[in-house]
Amino acid sequence: MDRTLVIAPGPTANGDLHLGHLAGPFLSADVCARYARATGRDVLFGTGVHFTQNYIVTTARRLGVDPEELRERSGAQVEQTLGTLAIEADGFVRFDQRYRLAVQDFFRRLHKLDKLRLRPVAFPYVARTGEFLTDAYVRGGCPVCLAVGCAGLCETCGHWIASGDLIDPRSTLDPDDEVELRETPVLVLPLEEHRAELTAYFASLTATMRPRLAQLVEELLAEPLPDYPITLPISWGIPAPFPEVADQVIYSDAETIAWSMHGSALAAELRGEQPGEELWSAAAAPAVVYFFGSDASFAFAVVGVAMLLALGGYALPAHFVTNEFYELENEKFSSSRGHVVTGRQLAAEVPRDLIRFYLAATAPDFQRTNFTREAMDRVTGERLVRPWNRVAAKAEQWAGGGPLPVSAHSRAAGQLLLDRFAAAFEPRRFSLTAAAFTLTEQLARLDQWEVTPERAGDFCHELDLLLRCAAPLLVDLAAAGLPDATVPSAALATEVVPRVLPRLAGADL
Ligand SMILES: [Zn+2]
Repeated sequence: MDRTLVIAPGPTANGDLHLGHLAGPFLSADVCARYARATGRDVLFGTGVHFTQNYIVTTARRLGVDPEELRERSGAQVEQTLGTLAIEADGFVRFDQRYRLAVQDFFRRLHKLDKLRLRPVAFPYVARTGEFLTDAYVRGGCPVCLAVGCAGLCETCGHWIASGDLIDPRSTLDPDDEVELRETPVLVLPLEEHRAELTAYFASLTATMRPRLAQLVEELLAEPLPDYPITLPISWGIPAPFPEVADQVIYSDAETIAWSMHGSALAAELRGEQPGEELWSAAAAPAVVYFFGSDASFAFAVVGVAMLLALGGYALPAHFVTNEFYELENEKFSSSRGHVVTGRQLAAEVPRDLIRFYLAATAPDFQRTNFTREAMDRVTGERLVRPWNRVAAKAEQWAGGGPLPVSAHSRAAGQLLLDRFAAAFEPRRFSLTAAAFTLTEQLARLDQWEVTPERAGDFCHELDLLLRCAAPLLVDLAAAGLPDATVPSAALATEVVPRVLPRLAGADL
């Protein structure tokens, strides 16, 4: 059976998951994995936490805690929050010796194949402390879009900003320090050497990339591609296992593919398999599907694919499902300003099916969207909880009376319903908002239905299909109301056995 490897890259281990994280990649990946399984596919879903970015150091300083302690605590919180919202990955990447060795081994292979080059690179440098400043350690203007931020991935334009290219760089460790530029040799992956293959690869994805990723790829390929650092002259990270850069660490944002493969391997192990290289091999031909925020595109889609091309013999990702920012009360979520709602906070007050539905209905699939608690209560009550409970009550009067016939007309309608959900759930055009609104539209249609004895079978048949298609979102309702989780590929039923269906409880009911 063809395998689907679903990957939701881990957040930086400097705090719990807020709703912005959840409404983007994590819920999407979970829903995609659940649907693919319900339609009979073999899925391995890997996620976890990213433990090596130096943002952990800067956040720990701000909070006055030890960075090691912060990343341990954050890893546990993230795992717990995902579980609270029924986001069930098969493999969860933790920061342990095995992970460190897997990352070092990955780069040893690239090094052995002579794909890395030792080149002088200019970094902001503080003479007073003798420290190079990279990524979270330095802030300045983005040379592409002028937004002020740290080096690395620019949240605003999505380009990768070399630390030495920031406009007016200042140290975030001590903003009063004098900052100069100083060259030092680091190992890089010269992306320009992979231009032809990257161009052909992204041309093959043109039909399905979401607009921001398509724009980033177009902008990048219009200019010479940069040398991407594989090692950095800082001390926080996994030690680089190469004598020519003996005191350096592996660049955390270069760990993307090693991290992903590790997540897939952990997922396969939980199935009782003994995975090796073959999980991602071209021969195994898995469909690799990524879910991440647009600002991670450069690291995963561009550099990640360049690494796979450089290594050779691996399957290249089939889809990148990117998302935009999710805001809270029309402001960016901000842990440092306390402007957050975590998944666990909300789940303590609202049934998780309602949270999953509302995050899907407002998911930032293509552009910035917004969360308010008031809108959540109103929309879930009006469009989901009350219509569902009315429809379930209508079906209940037929329960217990034996099978009812399903008409050819209803089978045809059921097929259209299956097709609409498939369009929203398949990775090619995956969209949480499309899935949520297909659900509410179909629910509204059944809610309007005057159920006569002649058409009771049709009603119960279409309601059964609707609940099966809604199951990737409404996990608890489906578990309570369905004998099994399968979504049929064709609506072939000629009769249906009406069942008593569970009701939805809502925060406002
Ligand atoms: Zn920018």
